[in-house]
Amino acid sequence: VVMLFTQDQLAVQALVKDWCHQKLLPYSKQLEKDKALLKEFWVELSELGLCGLQFPEEYGGAGLESTSYLLAIEEIAKISASLAVTLSVHTTVGILPIITYGTAAQKESYLPPMTAGRWIGAFGLTEPSAGSDAGQGKMSARREGDGYILNGEKIFITNAHLAQVFVMTARTHPEEKGPKGLSAFVLEKDTPGFTVQSGDEKLGLQGSDWGNLVCNGVYLPETQRLGAEQEGFKIFMNSLDQGRISIAALALGIAEAALEDSIRYVKERQQFGQTLSCFQATQFKLATMATEIEAARHLTYHAARLKEAGQPFSKEASMAKLYASETAMRCANEAVQLFGGYGYTTDFKVERYFRDAKSTEIVEGTSQIQRLVIAKSLL
Ligand SMILES: Cc1cc2nc3c(=O)[nH]c(=O)nc-3n(C[C@H](O)[C@H](O)[C@H](O)COP(=O)(O)OP(=O)(O)OC[C@H]3O[C@@H](n4cnc5c(N)ncnc54)[C@H](O)[C@@H]3O)c2cc1C
Repeated sequence: VVMLFTQDQLAVQALVKDWCHQKLLPYSKQLEKDKALLKEFWVELSELGLCGLQFPEEYGGAGLESTSYLLAIEEIAKISASLAVTLSVHTTVGILPIITYGTAAQKESYLPPMTAGRWIGAFGLTEPSAGSDAGQGKMSARREGDGYILNGEKIFITNAHLAQVFVMTARTHPEEKGPKGLSAFVLEKDTPGFTVQSGDEKLGLQGSDWGNLVCNGVYLPETQRLGAEQEGFKIFMNSLDQGRISIAALALGIAEAALEDSIRYVKERQQFGQTLSCFQATQFKLATMATEIEAARHLTYHAARLKEAGQPFSKEASMAKLYASETAMRCANEAVQLFGGYGYTTDFKVERYFRDAKSTEIVEGTSQIQRLVIAKSLL
């Protein structure tokens, strides 16, 4: 590791790396097929204390800073991006909105089981007709007595079948067509009228769970609203800023895995009487990958340090997510190329990195949306 981290942060990194290599690595491929394995590894993550690592001890967390958590995500993503995204969504966009905007009662009910990993969190923003333009969400929350009736659908929701707790947006003010009409709610999985449906088959992150959420006349008392009415979009955008640094760390892990596998392979594979590593064209690929990874690492941990210092970090989080995800995609692409036909088979991991890397350019705001966020702050 070239960047300077504290002894405590390096200790977390070493612990997670060790666990990943001993326990997770032998199952990294199987995780894609065997859905039950994800739950087993989740239990191990909670036993390691990783489900609430960066949250205050008063909420059951370990009280560490974001950097330690991000180092953990990076290590897990090197071995399984699917497990890393499960943890990333749970902690950043699942738990964080409750920590930041929850009432004392909401924090008391949800945070201890969530930081302990007994309850998994999910985040429902995307709808069939509102993705990048999430402020146009149509799920409605009509006032009724001292609560709300929710109707509508959310799609592509990570952890949908695993989660106990869902943080979701719904439109409380239909006269406001855009983001100002949205409020945020916390909903539990066994709420009457709420169902989770299977999501579409996906390209990558095969070991992770996603699905669609349907609210059909779901009654939620006012105590389940998160923050003030019409604050929903702000709550989600604020949580996404932090989520994006986490996706950047995840992408960084995929990119590093692609580079490490490539280095090993080109030193062994021979063509034209020498190893691939002897060709300058190969060396240039590796040099570019390593340089981009280093740049992505600096952007990612720089954004985290700004957050830890209480400085604005929204632009830097978008830059980190944009650059790290595109780096992951480029590195995975180069890795498949360096492995040639073998890279195109499922016998090697590089094809999985390629499929998993693509998700990081889409989830929690596409690369185009990150560029819009960055441009907005410049202009
Ligand atoms: C693996 C995965 C997990 C996910 N998990 C969750 C989750 O847990 N919770 C959740 O709420 N959502 C989740 N999502 C959904 C994700 O946030 C959306 O897919 C994403 O925001 C894009 O929305 P969309 O799919 O509707 O694409 P669209 O918004 O339809 O975009 C299509 C294309 O148009 C481009 N585009 C759109 N607007 C502009 C613009 N103004 N300028 C330039 N280009 C533009 C986009 O960049 C994209 O290339 C997940 C998605 C994936 C792939």
